[in-house]
Amino acid sequence: MADPIRLAVLGAGPGGYPAAFLAAERGMDVTLIDVRPQPGGVCLYEGCIPSKALLHAASVVTDARAAAAIGLTFDAPRLDLDRLRGWKDEVVRGLTGGLGQIARARKVRYVQGRGRFVDAHTLRVATEGELTEVQFDAAIVATGSSASIPPPLRLASSRVWDAEAALRLTEVPATLLVVGGGYIGLEMATVYAALGSRVTVVEATAGLLPGADRDLVDVLAKRVASVVEGILLLTSVDGLAETDDDGVRATLSGAAGTEERRFDRVLIATGRRPNSADLGLDTTCALVTARGFVEVSPQRRTAEPSIYAIGDVAGEPMLAHKATHEARVAVEAIGGEPSVWEPPVIPAVIYTDPELAWCGLTETEARTRGLDIEVARFPWSASGRAATAADREGLTKWLVEAGTGRVMGAGIVGRGAGDLIAEATLAVEMGARLDDIRLTVHPHPSRSETLMEAAEAFYGTSPHFIARNHPRTP
Ligand code: NAD
Repeated sequence: MADPIRLAVLGAGPGGYPAAFLAAERGMDVTLIDVRPQPGGVCLYEGCIPSKALLHAASVVTDARAAAAIGLTFDAPRLDLDRLRGWKDEVVRGLTGGLGQIARARKVRYVQGRGRFVDAHTLRVATEGELTEVQFDAAIVATGSSASIPPPLRLASSRVWDAEAALRLTEVPATLLVVGGGYIGLEMATVYAALGSRVTVVEATAGLLPGADRDLVDVLAKRVASVVEGILLLTSVDGLAETDDDGVRATLSGAAGTEERRFDRVLIATGRRPNSADLGLDTTCALVTARGFVEVSPQRRTAEPSIYAIGDVAGEPMLAHKATHEARVAVEAIGGEPSVWEPPVIPAVIYTDPELAWCGLTETEARTRGLDIEVARFPWSASGRAATAADREGLTKWLVEAGTGRVMGAGIVGRGAGDLIAEATLAVEMGARLDDIRLTVHPHPSRSETLMEAAEAFYGTSPHFIARNHPRTP
């Protein structure tokens, strides 16, 4: 029998650990390298998981407050910050520890340390006080991304946070400036506003979540506006300076000119950049774009035949689930299979309150590209399930190819949108027609029905909602 392929995976986040585990299942001899004590990466240690734990806490607070409207009044929450932080850390420890066990069970060698390529078949890993050399036949770079802080906002101060610092939950500042109205800015604004901070969100463009459709964002923006102190659009933060009273002075410039405002803490959430520097890729033939992404083929192979790259470091969208699926492609390609990365649809979810999710084509993109599409909409005010949860703010919509009825994309804003979008993703992936959705029996009463009812409304057959546009025939 031939020797097993020696695979080194650099980075143990949601790209790297699934790659290592799958490769081990396929009989490869796998070394997984990461600076953290267990697999999990930013997602489990300082991203997706701790943020969702804190968003859960935020929704408990918000729901308890909103319950007064249905005759249930609770006392104002008393925040035990140490306990909340401890619970969040327990969640992280449990999940990362579980991944460590799985790595051992799959006989994946886990090396804790910072790895660097020294040639196309060798990685040198700086572990505690020593250097370990890892020889490989193939390597997968899955080193992720880090917060990208614009130069004028780079102030070395514990009062200025990135997402990682915000998720440490060391304090709940009285006032918090959130720079950037994207994924991280809005999720963290939701958390800190619920915990009691007076939050101001500053966004450079004309609207929150620039990539998402406006009809969905409008629903979310209304709710965000009701819990934060202010949302400043078309405004950018041009400078930060520490004040004498443990705060930060921010220079804001917008249509009305420039002004200075004081905040206790500032969170910068203006995007992320790929972690491709300092990996020693220059000792190999792998190429890196001007924006720092490692250039890869559809098989996720770099210009160096033995080295592959997946996840945030290999290109947009910087989403954990995209990295996990690329992991499979890279491992299969290394194993000699004709696998390629060509997903027709990758869902995106912002876990705010309410959640906002979409997949496939957006309406904005369709209009920009001049595509002939039609839109099926169902407002949650017509949903029985949403009404019984006192939760009527929401919208579900499908984007449909005109003439064929094929679903090209979907968008949902409302509670649980992040879970509901999975059905739409499968529909787009499998080339469903809107009529397939209409004819699929959905459980009643459920929010998932809004997907079916949007299709019904499109054809004029929804029992609960009459769409303004003319009924079509399926
Ligand atoms: P983002 O790209 O989502 O949003 C950044 C926002 O900051 C943009 O709206 C941009 O216009 C604005 N901005 C940039 N410079 C500014 C300035 N000087 N002043 C005011 N506004 C400014 O970036 P993010 O929120 O930092 O998140 C980074 C990435 O992390 C996301 O793109 C996403 O891929 C990933 N992420 C995903 C999730 C999720 O899946 N739920 C959650 C968090 C992060």
